[in-house]
Amino acid sequence: MSSPFDLHSHSTVSDGLLAPADLVRHAADMGVQVLALTDHDDIGGLAAAAQAAREVGIGFVNGVEISVTWNRRTLHVVGLKISPEHAPLREGLVRIRDSRHVRAAGMADGLARIGIAGSLEGAYAHVSEGGIISRSHFARFLVEQGHAKDVRSVFKHFLVKGKPGYFEHQWASLEEAIGWIVGSGGIPVLAHPGRYDLGRTNMLTLFHEFRELGGRAVEVVTGSHTPEMVPHIARLAHQFDLLASAGSDYHGPGHTYIEMGRLPELPPICTPVWHDWPEMQNQPKVLAA
Ligand code: AMP
Ligand code: MN
Ligand code: MN
Ligand code: MN
Repeated sequence: MSSPFDLHSHSTVSDGLLAPADLVRHAADMGVQVLALTDHDDIGGLAAAAQAAREVGIGFVNGVEISVTWNRRTLHVVGLKISPEHAPLREGLVRIRDSRHVRAAGMADGLARIGIAGSLEGAYAHVSEGGIISRSHFARFLVEQGHAKDVRSVFKHFLVKGKPGYFEHQWASLEEAIGWIVGSGGIPVLAHPGRYDLGRTNMLTLFHEFRELGGRAVEVVTGSHTPEMVPHIARLAHQFDLLASAGSDYHGPGHTYIEMGRLPELPPICTPVWHDWPEMQNQPKVLAA
């Protein structure tokens, strides 16, 4: 059976391909019963998504995925059940979004140096009105221009550390991101830890610091984890007394590691982040399973 909860997804407000309401309708069609929208550094899609969820009759969770710099690495922290009205969260996200424009200009300069002109305008042409600019938008432009065959190979050759379109950037600190989420009444979730390519020592340090700063949960099941990573991260979550989350990290048709409604269930060792949520009361099948 697949997980009825999908607590990580993206819309056109960040780098997803479906508008918030369309994303929710797609989730419902695929059998998701509770969805969180977690756009990168932006909460602008939550109201439309919540409205669509009411219309199609699925549960909806306000979320966000905050970009963080920790020990000179980029990490992502998902906030679940955040209040979009909380001023420090809103202001923090504005700061990150503003800085994305500066970084985008730096990326475009790097690409111009290897002879790729017009990438700033080209990337912005893929951004929805009011949406954030991300490396995914540069990737779409570069594929469109024939510089690589697909988005995955664009990242590998142009957009990761050491490549011409990579621009070193300072995101929020881990402490800030967790503070904004907790302050807004939300639950901080460490996103896809298996993807950061940390050695064992750094991983343990990260889990420890995340917990100390007020982190509460870790994504164990995610489209970004290989099947081998899941039991490993599940054990770490258990060891550090962190709850477990599950999310597809869906970005749209053809732009995702895993389709919605296909997430495996959490391993039995995990305590789901939703164990005490009211949404559980609408899940009698799951409770009985
Ligand atoms: P940014 O926050 O602007 O650095 O963009 C990060 C986003 O780029 C991630 O959320 C993914 O959606 C996408 N991304 C990162 N690495 C890859 C990759 N190797 N292949 C495809 N998409 C990627
Ligand atoms: Mn993304
Ligand atoms: Mn992420
Ligand atoms: Mn994501």
